[in-house]
Amino acid sequence: MNKENKEPIFEFDFNLIADFFRALDRQGPGGDEQTLRALEFLPATGPGLRIADIGCGTGRQTEVLARHLDGTITAVDLLPAMIEGLRARMKRMGLGDRVTALVGSMDELAFGDEELDLIWAEGSIYNIGFERGLTEWRRFLKPGGVIAVTECSWLAPSRLPETAYIRENFPDIDTPAAKVRMLEKAGYVPLAHFVLPQHCWTQNYFAAVAARIPDFLEEQGHSPAAVRMATLMREEIEHYRAHGTDYGYVFYIGQKPEK
Ligand code: SAM
Repeated sequence: MNKENKEPIFEFDFNLIADFFRALDRQGPGGDEQTLRALEFLPATGPGLRIADIGCGTGRQTEVLARHLDGTITAVDLLPAMIEGLRARMKRMGLGDRVTALVGSMDELAFGDEELDLIWAEGSIYNIGFERGLTEWRRFLKPGGVIAVTECSWLAPSRLPETAYIRENFPDIDTPAAKVRMLEKAGYVPLAHFVLPQHCWTQNYFAAVAARIPDFLEEQGHSPAAVRMATLMREEIEHYRAHGTDYGYVFYIGQKPEK
């Protein structure tokens, strides 16, 4: 969601976006089991890990990381409403002392060189671009540190259909093989990649999005912008229903080589 972004959802006021998404448990496709599966590929799990969760939303995956890793997490999101939601969640779960939540942009992160053991970004690196995020964030990792991100990728060998929706929402979409090559080119050793199952989209995300729409429209007094946003959300769900075997999120996990 950098300021130059031309994706349809970003035609809306940030407050409108925040009002819709702050009420959701997660702000994109994902699953606790998949977060845990990605964690299994970490060569080291602590103690005292320094972790960043970038584009954290209200922190569903942050909570999983905090519960299963021994260390401290800095969670960053552009939208203050997401950070408020994340702080409230961590307080509720008694994890407040493990997580520092900051409003900030992923294109100007304030970490020092070689400060982090682990960089996590579920459903968010596309905001800066997969290649750019991998490249720019690498310096924050200690040698041997790990990056784990999810990124929308082609799953069908035919790479079809290249619909307007895909072009507008996932302009950098590519095959997992191509994304792994990018990971290597950006200076990481690929540790693993795996496809998120469809229920991470349908049950874990779209069900809540669909349920949120009527309340959201009511809260917004059915304003033209709210109606347009609801339409786009419904189109997103419908597009996945029609073409969801062709694209999906893939977890990519890579390690910065030891010196
Ligand atoms: N990781 C969360 C999850 O999986 O539930 C949120 C994923 S959501 C699809 C993407 C998140 O990235 C949103 O919370 C959004 O506010 C955040 N975001 C967008 N642009 C950003 C930027 N430039 N810097 C930091 N966060 C950003």
